[in-house]
Amino acid sequence: MNAPDNTASDDPIAALARALPKVLLHEHIDGGLRAATLIELARERGLGLPSTDAAELARWFDQRAHAGSLPAYLEGFGLTIAAMANPAAMARVAFEAAEDARTDGCVLAELRCAPNLWETHGIRAEAAIEALLAGLQGSALPTGLIVCALRHHAPAETARVARLAVRYRAHGVLAFDLAGPELGHPPSEHAGAFAAARDGGLPITCHAGEADEAKRVIEAARLGARRIGHGVRLADAFGSADGQALIDEAIARRLHLEVCVTSNLHTGAVVSRASHPIRALWHAGIDLSFHTDNRLMSGVSASAEAANLVRANGFTFIELASMSLRAAQASFLPDAVRARAEASIRGWLATQEPMQAQDQAAGTSAPSNKPSTP
Ligand SMILES: [Zn+2]
Repeated sequence: MNAPDNTASDDPIAALARALPKVLLHEHIDGGLRAATLIELARERGLGLPSTDAAELARWFDQRAHAGSLPAYLEGFGLTIAAMANPAAMARVAFEAAEDARTDGCVLAELRCAPNLWETHGIRAEAAIEALLAGLQGSALPTGLIVCALRHHAPAETARVARLAVRYRAHGVLAFDLAGPELGHPPSEHAGAFAAARDGGLPITCHAGEADEAKRVIEAARLGARRIGHGVRLADAFGSADGQALIDEAIARRLHLEVCVTSNLHTGAVVSRASHPIRALWHAGIDLSFHTDNRLMSGVSASAEAANLVRANGFTFIELASMSLRAAQASFLPDAVRARAEASIRGWLATQEPMQAQDQAAGTSAPSNKPSTP
């Protein structure tokens, strides 16, 4: 993979990135399998794989990840969905995702999946949700499931998935999400799904402003999304009056962007790490945090994303901790879980650069993301 090596134990940036309490809001369960698990599951089901060596298979996914388009990037999911096509496998993968987040230094994790993808394999979406929830609940990490609908499916189908998500609200489903190939499928095409989630009192996040325009971010927000997956095209709005109105509305709504830098690089949403607009968005006052999206497809971890943001985008660990606080506040998990996550982050902040951290640790809200100097 192209990401800098940050696994060396004597690398202070990698060590700090691992120690930083991280809040994982955006990771697809079917995009985050351990390569070794994928090999085992494929073998059990008699599926062919490009390699049965875990390192080689990880490299194969990494090469596909550099295809540079969202549709090409999404093709790899056919393989993981087929390998996970029984409830025990789904539960195992969900459990391992939560445990991997925990050992990577995450203090909570919201993991997501589209449960109707297994219906072509003869497994009802209800059974898939129940298996994924059972897997997550086996982990010691506070977690929950975001149920995704896919925007290239018919509106009646995305509305059905939203109603299904609402039914499992009391059992660990945290939110509804619209995912899949964005261009040509704006949020408004699925207004019925948004309405079903809203009417059922289920929070909404939505992939938007990844492969389509900045205005899709606000379109999703106006339909009820409190968080946005990616949202990076919002940066295209800088510099014009109409565009600034979009930025201002995102800030006024306290819309939270779940930014996934490595994934954006792989799907062609940005051309390089250094040119990613996360820093410009952050300093414009946009609420945001950093996430993995697909650990297997993109060969990343939450800690690797943190280290990359320090190395390539000039963020400090104090700023990253501030993002973790924003993410904890934007989490759809219960208040007590979010409060414990915030306490962990503030505790860590208090151990870092005491002059900067004391005020932040004592505060009741996240530190400002406005530049501290003009
Ligand atoms: Zn995503």
